[in-house]
Amino acid sequence: MEDYRKYWNERMETLPPEEFREVHEKALLRQLKYVGENSAFYQKKFSELGVEVGDVKRIEDLNRLPFTEKAELRDSQLDSSPLGSHIACPMTSVKRIYSTSGTTGRPTYIGLSKHDANTWAEAACRAFWTCGLRTGSIVPLVVAPFLIAASYADALQKIGTVVPIGVGATDRIIGAFQHIGANALLSTSSYPLHFADSLEKRGIDPKSLGIKVIMAGGEPGAAIPSVRQKVEETFGCAFLEMMGNGDMCGEIWAECEFKKGMHFIAQGIVHPEIIDPHIGEALEIRVGTKGELVYTSLDRECIPLVRFRTRDHVEVTQTSCECGRTGLGIRVFGRTDDMIIVQGVNVYPAAVWDVVANFAPKVTGVIEIQLPTSPPEGWEPPIHVKVEHQVDPGEMDALKKKIETSIREKLIFRANVELVPVGILPKYEYKAKLVRKLYEEKNEHNRVTS
Ligand SMILES: [Zn+2]
Repeated sequence: MEDYRKYWNERMETLPPEEFREVHEKALLRQLKYVGENSAFYQKKFSELGVEVGDVKRIEDLNRLPFTEKAELRDSQLDSSPLGSHIACPMTSVKRIYSTSGTTGRPTYIGLSKHDANTWAEAACRAFWTCGLRTGSIVPLVVAPFLIAASYADALQKIGTVVPIGVGATDRIIGAFQHIGANALLSTSSYPLHFADSLEKRGIDPKSLGIKVIMAGGEPGAAIPSVRQKVEETFGCAFLEMMGNGDMCGEIWAECEFKKGMHFIAQGIVHPEIIDPHIGEALEIRVGTKGELVYTSLDRECIPLVRFRTRDHVEVTQTSCECGRTGLGIRVFGRTDDMIIVQGVNVYPAAVWDVVANFAPKVTGVIEIQLPTSPPEGWEPPIHVKVEHQVDPGEMDALKKKIETSIREKLIFRANVELVPVGILPKYEYKAKLVRKLYEEKNEHNRVTS
């Protein structure tokens, strides 16, 4: 791809730590002043708690302000339609409204002013550039996996060429590569292997598409070594991870070619903290720090949020990189919402996926963790994991035992592995559903029939 400029925004992406602190402190104080003057939601919340934005005089004071929970934003919208009392600009200034893919309850709606749409596009440009997109990149944009696709389109157009494609239109995606010369793909982490299956069925070699990079987001996966290796070998390209947050900014993190964790790329747009999720205290950021991501917006007109809890659990993997970016690097290891507790141990479904995927090519990488028919309190170990095996996996019983042993050793819980042939487990075109909660289905069934 042409254009060998290393960064989209060199100054912001390579800020030395002291300058980063200055830039963020200045922006934070300006944003908090705006929040104090314009957000009815925060005026009420802060006054009830006896705090005010003026309590924050330096960036280190941010912990004097309370967290914002997703549920509060939902309630705020129920009480004050359509965007809630946390909207801080006139409705006539709102130029775009997204709905976030709420995993629970009704979706929340996110408004962007023209200014907000521009900052989101700026962050997305930095992320795409970090992953290797350049002038000359042509990227099919499949709308469904990303509800914030319009902001991706803005950014892709600034860098290269975007090819909008409808939902589930596999042949049109293939056509974009074969006829238009598309050379990069933006998808969820689980999509590339599904896409490879579709190609195989049509007798097309995935390498023949000429994909240089697949950028994945929306769920953990690209950073799982066995999954990454399989995708990179299948397509002959780089498989890199990106992450944003629907309530905060479309892209906040992106992985560079050195693949040592996603760099923070939203300098001046979002301020990140990592907190201990149990006691709510901000943690010092250094390699190895593990905790929940919390974001404060720094430059937002429509919905400025203060200390928004993401439920994303991350580990800091690097604080400097050969690429020259100074934004810290992280990997996501799960979400509070996904986490299940088995025999007293916290288990992230993506971690089970990782252990199983190490048995490729004997297994395909598709799994389903089945939770029992009774609610979580009444669990009886062991937990049941269905694992899809390839056509000729060899000695089945030995493979089953090896996977069970590996799960027990690496994740410290006992699993009952059931090997199933290809075609039994559902395939998800977009986000993979790793856990099937049988007790929920039972309740739903009861509701329908009663
Ligand atoms: Zn880097």
